[in-house]
Amino acid sequence: MHEIAIAGGIIDIALDHARKHNARSVKEVWVEVGELTSLNPDQLRFIFNTITRNTVLEGAEYRIDMIKPVIECNQCRYHGAIKFFQALHYVLPVIHCPECDSTDVEILQGRDCTVKDMVFS
Ligand SMILES: [Zn+2]
Repeated sequence: MHEIAIAGGIIDIALDHARKHNARSVKEVWVEVGELTSLNPDQLRFIFNTITRNTVLEGAEYRIDMIKPVIECNQCRYHGAIKFFQALHYVLPVIHCPECDSTDVEILQGRDCTVKDMVFS
């Protein structure tokens, strides 16, 4: 399960962070999720709540910001947003350059999930 693996990775980072700060509980976790991951915030929140039972993250609120993909085209040097992508495969979504329709593009942003910040209580 793709979603659970990614959510688990985020929680591992958050738990590690909490440990380093000797946090006894966590109020809020701010997560940025690239749209290219095809993850759904509601689904993520549900998984977070489920897998953090009996940890310092139990009961934490999750702020989930979706990050728009940004690409650079290797053909025409277009740099910017994309119109759409086909999430056929989560590792390698098919992305077309909006200028020249090439698929030879670098994904600069929108593919990762990161913990931006945390509020401890
Ligand atoms: Zn292009």
